Amino acid sequence: MQTIGRFAPSPSGRMHLGNVLCALLAWLSARHQGGQYLLRIEDLDTLRCPRSYAELILDDLRWLGLDWDGAVPYQSERTAIYEGYEAILREKGLLYPCFCSRAALHAASAPHLSDGRVVYAGTCRDLTPEQVVEKRKTRSPATRVRVPDEEVRFTDGVFGAYRENLARECGDFIIRRSDGVFAYQLAVVVDDALSGVTEVVRGADLISSTPRQIWLHRLFSFAPPAFVHIPLLCDHDGRRLSKRDEDLDLGLLRQRFTPEQVIGALACAAGLLDRPEPVAARELAADFAWDKIPRHDLFLPDVFREGR
Ligand code: GLU
Repeated sequence: MQTIGRFAPSPSGRMHLGNVLCALLAWLSARHQGGQYLLRIEDLDTLRCPRSYAELILDDLRWLGLDWDGAVPYQSERTAIYEGYEAILREKGLLYPCFCSRAALHAASAPHLSDGRVVYAGTCRDLTPEQVVEKRKTRSPATRVRVPDEEVRFTDGVFGAYRENLARECGDFIIRRSDGVFAYQLAVVVDDALSGVTEVVRGADLISSTPRQIWLHRLFSFAPPAFVHIPLLCDHDGRRLSKRDEDLDLGLLRQRFTPEQVIGALACAAGLLDRPEPVAARELAADFAWDKIPRHDLFLPDVFREGR
């Protein structure tokens, strides 16, 4: 079976080094296996994800030498497709409207898990039809899917065995927001499956989403892809990089470095090179292997620290 990898950025800002590392490793894995590399723009929230940022991501990937195959789908244009899959869940009797406000969710949901996620307490799970009619008068509901008391297991390509009991460690989750925007969890499953993705590579901050996604894949009778979560990039003081680190976004980095310098420094941080020497992405593909990637957070290479 041919490997089909993908990079699926949310264009809520310019790409930063963590995104570049993810795009690079997903590309290297796919190209190493002679496979395809798809690009998808995850702009479900059109207010936070303007077209202009999506176009900059495409331009940054070209600059980095990370080419992709085929057309680029935009999730904001795929609502009708997601509605078809929402209907399948509805027919199975798994959906219900949830009227909880953000504040109510936090007040009602104990315990908080160690990674800061909260387990949904099930407040709206068993509302009567009359209660739903009454509540709709003052608030539009989000849509939640009922999860079973079932453990989902998978073997991550970097982090190894991972398991989660959906009912106890996650709870019923939102598949469509109260403003009608589909949730990432539903859209990502539908899009990965319909585009034939066999390997999902993304940041370790998303590993806890994977059991929900595998469960949805199976509900829709899709074969779940392989999942590889990559360690996150940290500053020298151990702080994870984020979109707030604007001096590390590609807009500024492109003024200071060549693409080969950026790729070489990240490849070195990820254990693919001994020294941060400039290199083109295509030169790294032949020797790429997931077992070279460490399981711990990665340090921001020194070259990016200088001049900050
Ligand atoms: N769109 C997500 C992000 O940019 C990534 C989703 C995924 O790779 O599954 O964080």
